[in-house]
Amino acid sequence: MTPSRALACSLLLALAACGGKGGGTGPSTMPPEPTYSVTSVVFYDENGNGVLDGAEAVRLQQVDVVVGGVSAKSGAGGQAVVAGVKAGAQTVAIRTESLPAYFVPTVPLPVQVPQTGGEVRLAVRLPIGDNLPNENEIREKYGSKNFLLLGSSHALAAASAAAMNREFAGAAEEQERARKYGEEAEDLLVAMHEVIGHGSGKLSDRVKAGAQPFLKEYYSTLEEARADLMALFNVWDPKLKELGLVTDQENVARAMYDSSARAALTQLRRIPKGDTIEEDHQRARALIANFVKDKTGAIEQFNLLGKTFVRVTDYQKMREGVGVLLAELMRIKAEGDYDAVKALIDKYGVHFDPKLRDQVVGRYRQLDLPVYWAGINPELTAQLDAKGNVSSIKMTYPRDAVQQYLSYGRMYQSK
Ligand SMILES: [Zn+2]
Repeated sequence: MTPSRALACSLLLALAACGGKGGGTGPSTMPPEPTYSVTSVVFYDENGNGVLDGAEAVRLQQVDVVVGGVSAKSGAGGQAVVAGVKAGAQTVAIRTESLPAYFVPTVPLPVQVPQTGGEVRLAVRLPIGDNLPNENEIREKYGSKNFLLLGSSHALAAASAAAMNREFAGAAEEQERARKYGEEAEDLLVAMHEVIGHGSGKLSDRVKAGAQPFLKEYYSTLEEARADLMALFNVWDPKLKELGLVTDQENVARAMYDSSARAALTQLRRIPKGDTIEEDHQRARALIANFVKDKTGAIEQFNLLGKTFVRVTDYQKMREGVGVLLAELMRIKAEGDYDAVKALIDKYGVHFDPKLRDQVVGRYRQLDLPVYWAGINPELTAQLDAKGNVSSIKMTYPRDAVQQYLSYGRMYQSK
């Protein structure tokens, strides 16, 4: 506090609270219109649910809290007492510029003055690991931001990839490529799927507000297929090498194509009954492999010692097929062409031969691997120094899946 402000405070102390601890809540004798103090606390909302939970112990100081045009800074314990507030319905807001870098304030909260309940709890979040949603509009305005938790996908691959490849990759050369480059190909596919795939492309005026209402039940399959195709088509782009995003581009790209051709076969392990695919990612993978196989002949299915395999016979021809399908899906999305998307997906993305599925399920059962898996994500929490700046990120590994999913639910509920 500056000397002049301290003086002003001591003069005013008799009239109204002047910030600091325990500001008076009663009306002053002067001026005629009574004013009140509003007490709030600024806390770091680690799990982003908007509520001060028991484990959230960090409070932020030196943050401007504004109520009805009057403001005060939060002090020790994150408490801010804004004095001189007129009676009635007001809002309590944080002045964003006063927050340490990267912090995001809560929306302004309502308060009835004089304040009857407890202090107003003002959440500030640190969006460490938030993905930007895939909506076209957000992609156009802000671009894309995604976090890939490679630890989880690599752990899964370490547990299952070798056995899967031995059983389902046909030639020795293909197995070797999968062993050496499979993981890199998978990481790159996921990254491109999310970053340049979803939400990309331009929409016509007709579907400006989004293609979903036009493409209805086929929209999600189209969007997943489009995202995969963006990865498959662009994996050969020299720009990737230039940016240092790929090691051995030719082999990584081939491994990606091998695996995408195999997917239509291996994913049947997850559909033990019936003869149709319902899930959108699975439909998308079937659409790509079956379309390329039918239109270009670059994917071939063959039998060896009573087992069925697929192989890519010509990678550049497969890429051409990928390009044709990608262009058509971009057009369908841009124009909202329901009939065209229905015809494509019904033909290539839905049906399979149940006999082939029984064979795949049997082969997979012998590998003794789980058909489905679920991961518990690590949790990232910012560690702050005394000024509220981020000094490091703490990573913890919760063990309770139910709690984690409930907390994700709470996170989205409050918005
Ligand atoms: Zn996706």
